Amino acid sequence: MLKNRFLALSLLSLAACTPGPDLAESPKNAGITKTESLPENRISAENLAKWRKGNPSWYAAVEPFQVIGEDGAGIYYVGTEGLGMFFIPTQDGHIVIDGGMPDQGPMVADAITQLGYDPKDIKILLNSHAHLDHSGGLADLKAMSGADMIASEGDRSALEGGFYLGSEDEEFLFAPPVKVDRIIADGEKVSHGGVTLTAYITPGHSRGCTSWTMDVEQGGKSYEVLVFCSATVAANRLVNPPQYEGIVEDYRSTFDKTRDWTPDVFLANHPGFFGLMKKRERQRAGDPLAFVDDQAFGKFITRVEGWFIDALQKQSAATTP
Ligand SMILES: [Zn+2]
Repeated sequence: MLKNRFLALSLLSLAACTPGPDLAESPKNAGITKTESLPENRISAENLAKWRKGNPSWYAAVEPFQVIGEDGAGIYYVGTEGLGMFFIPTQDGHIVIDGGMPDQGPMVADAITQLGYDPKDIKILLNSHAHLDHSGGLADLKAMSGADMIASEGDRSALEGGFYLGSEDEEFLFAPPVKVDRIIADGEKVSHGGVTLTAYITPGHSRGCTSWTMDVEQGGKSYEVLVFCSATVAANRLVNPPQYEGIVEDYRSTFDKTRDWTPDVFLANHPGFFGLMKKRERQRAGDPLAFVDDQAFGKFITRVEGWFIDALQKQSAATTP
């Protein structure tokens, strides 16, 4: 059943690759990227099966739930045990951050339906970064909703080309191409239906890695929520040749920029980064502020910076004769 749905959605997403003149010419899109048709989705079923097998937690279901907020406002978790996707409802249609793997768009949509909302009412799609485990499902979500995709200039080529920047020919890393309708810069805001998110470009893990913040009310208090884009090295080459020009400087600038951040609620695209399962347990046990911890991000980013320094040393040593 899921498979049939996915096939239907894949067809839809192919059809959506060539948006009509209404999109290109609407005043809302004036001055924004000219609409061109996207390349085809090149990720193979065989490679997807390998990803599934190698990363079972990415496909392990989590019952969708509200992380923080009340009266239908705030931020909801619509991801899996291993991949963080987020849903922000508004009175004028909804916002989604990240789409998971290339075959997970329908799963994110199901989670939104379970929460009592219609995925067709998604108006805005945001992305932490253009790697297939976070951008993969966006093309399907866009096809089913017609939502605008908002992303950074640094990640645009990878999103629209369906590849991993600096490893453009690596088939294992292909993702379904998704059209970017609006480019967002560092510090710029996305306001929709009474909700405002601010974009912070935190590059390194990808060239346009984008972290998002928003304020959420609960119990008469306002909490700053951060959805952090990763800063791990993972599969990235730092040197000889770097994954992309300037990657090391980008990582360093991200650590400098974020080191002192103290968001009340720290969320990210891999739930292991912020201890989702444990916090969810506490929330289930009756603590409505289980996700509030303004020290959590600082501890995390210090650890990640240490990993980066190690990786840079190792990669440099490995390539020095
Ligand atoms: Zn990544």
